[in-house]
Amino acid sequence: MGEYEFVVDAMLGDLAKWLRILGRSTYYDPHAPDEALVEIAEREGAVLATRDRELYEKASGRGVEAVYLAGLGLAEALRLIGARYGVRLGIDFSDTRCPLCNGRLRRASRSEVEGRVPPGVLERRKPVFVCVSCGHLYWPGSHLKRMKAFLKGLQSGGNAFSAPRSRA
Ligand SMILES: [Zn+2]
Repeated sequence: MGEYEFVVDAMLGDLAKWLRILGRSTYYDPHAPDEALVEIAEREGAVLATRDRELYEKASGRGVEAVYLAGLGLAEALRLIGARYGVRLGIDFSDTRCPLCNGRLRRASRSEVEGRVPPGVLERRKPVFVCVSCGHLYWPGSHLKRMKAFLKGLQSGGNAFSAPRSRA
């Protein structure tokens, strides 16, 4: 296993962010040509996730593990990847990666975050994490609650986040 576990095509930016939040090292560069994505996946032994039939076939033809996600929304794509590749659909800050750059997170010290987060975060002694690569700060808040609710919906197998199905 190389540096990346997943390589995600340009159309799947939301999926790339989520895989990083779930702790999976994910390569995402919307400007990378198809050929480069296949090469990176091949070199890294990574799974290539794509909505592009041509790219899927090119990767498969080269023996690269690829998952074809055309027609699937984010929730369905995550559910499929979770089931097929054992991606745990839960947030654990000890292995969450920066959704912006795939960097690892570490606990930030109080002096590092003073003046950079809302005062309430420090007052309530909430843990703050910093990306070791880009310096972006993360802390538990309403956004995290929404993300957890979204994941819970995935695990329960409910339809809440997928397109409504017509009754046959
Ligand atoms: Zn970062």
